[in-house]
Amino acid sequence: MTYAKPLPVLDPISKPFWALAAQGRFGLQVCTKCKDAHYPGTPVCPNCLSSDQRWEAVSGRGQLLSWATFHRAYWKGFEPDLPFTVGLIRLDEGPLFVCTLVEFEADKLRLDLPVEAVFEKVTDEITLPRFRPSLG
Ligand SMILES: [Zn+2]
Repeated sequence: MTYAKPLPVLDPISKPFWALAAQGRFGLQVCTKCKDAHYPGTPVCPNCLSSDQRWEAVSGRGQLLSWATFHRAYWKGFEPDLPFTVGLIRLDEGPLFVCTLVEFEADKLRLDLPVEAVFEKVTDEITLPRFRPSLG
């Protein structure tokens, strides 16, 4: 399987996010001291600076804050997908997440639209989250 788009580089901090994604679960890094949930992962909690953090599977749900539809591919691998839409999502747990939107009707996108994560395995190692309008 050849994947022609950029792929995330796994490092010790981000690896648990991708391990959860491979299981079809959306993960956030959560501080065990102050319970702050955040993405992307960081070496120390951005709220209290504790290094005592772990990754947890969370709801994978949020609301659409904004979106943009691309009609030009800035990376050759995206040409077959044109036009494609990327959304800014406020996750139910608080963090913002930028992600490709799938399974939607363009005229139904609106501010605060409930969305949920779905997952697409693109290589043996990487499963990418996407967001679609919430089905329930
Ligand atoms: Zn903290």
